[in-house]
Amino acid sequence: MAGLKLENVNKIYPNGFHAVHDMNLEITDNEFVVFVGPSGCGKSTALRMIAGLEEISSGELYIGDRLVNNVSPKDRDIAMVFQNYALYPHMTNYENMAFGLKLRNVPKDEIDKSVQYAAEILGLENLLDRKPRELSGGQRQRIALGRAIVRDPQVFLMDEPLSNLDAKLRVQTRAEISKLHQKLKTTFIYVTHDQTEAMTMGTRIVVLKDGYVMQVDTPTNLYDNPKNMFVAGFIGSPQMNFIEGEFVEESGDLYFQYHGGKVMLQNEKAAVIRSLKQSEKKVILGIRPEHLEVVVKASKENDDTENDSNQALVEVTEMLGSETYLFLNIKQNQSIVARVEPSVKVAVNDTVIINPRKDKMHFFHPETEESLL
Ligand code: ATP
Repeated sequence: MAGLKLENVNKIYPNGFHAVHDMNLEITDNEFVVFVGPSGCGKSTALRMIAGLEEISSGELYIGDRLVNNVSPKDRDIAMVFQNYALYPHMTNYENMAFGLKLRNVPKDEIDKSVQYAAEILGLENLLDRKPRELSGGQRQRIALGRAIVRDPQVFLMDEPLSNLDAKLRVQTRAEISKLHQKLKTTFIYVTHDQTEAMTMGTRIVVLKDGYVMQVDTPTNLYDNPKNMFVAGFIGSPQMNFIEGEFVEESGDLYFQYHGGKVMLQNEKAAVIRSLKQSEKKVILGIRPEHLEVVVKASKENDDTENDSNQALVEVTEMLGSETYLFLNIKQNQSIVARVEPSVKVAVNDTVIINPRKDKMHFFHPETEESLL
């Protein structure tokens, strides 16, 4: 078991492409850290540098207390699980799992003990004599996990290990990997582009964009206190709504005013807002779909509330059983999404009033996109 430290780690590929910029990260022993971000953000490159499969262009990587920049992958005491399983087709599953130890000349009875232990943890006892092609995708991925467990590494590295599985199996295997982490009590680093996977599995999440670390935080903090619009929009589904507007003061009260109306702000935020320069009062409101209260107003035909503030027109409703998504037009053709209880009965073309929860409103700088409050 070991922690890990990246200090100003950069990756510049031979063609000059700068894929990872000054990555600084400290991972403590036993953490489950997830690297997440859209395609091309550099998450696999970062993981592959930790694995030793990709050279580090500059910066330092420590596993435990050891500087490992120039240590070969096999001597880093890590095990990597890939998306495509990477099992040897001509070997049985037992032989696949035993392979790493055999290379290290571990005695046969010790290998057997380790393979049986891993097989037991993952429920693979009955599949060991078969070849990988005789297994389902989910079973193959478990063999690949078993092969990693058998090596008893200090750090497990996983690159999108669930992406070849169907949706149901992905959810099951996700839970299995989380349980495995609890059982093995060792460090896991896991790469995915799927924010749900990141949020459900990680004890800490590293959000990456264009090779830069955007935020490193617990799932709850990422969700509640995103540092910028990118993180705010990437974490959470459906994604956070963004509405341009400005802070205004009327009769001593502060409001967020936008093209569709205005919303009074919490007193706690007043001091900060009043301290902003006039030029800083143009902001972007971020509000999650689940933090928009929706009140049914009137149908379009007898709409007599034309001038009311915060009106929206229901454009589409999506019933998901346990909740409903409402796609709302808040004038000037801007669409936003609200996530409401199925008991909220609205139909397409209804006019509704939207009330953002005051304690859940986020404000971002329109140019830097950084969080303001
Ligand atoms: P994905 O989810 O699509 O796998 P990723 O976040 O894992 O994406 P990386 O594979 O780390 O992204 O790639 C990061 C960037 O580096 C991409 O823009 C990619 O095109 C580029 N890249 C990757 N490998 C090389 C290479 N060998 N030479 C040049 N550029 C590369």
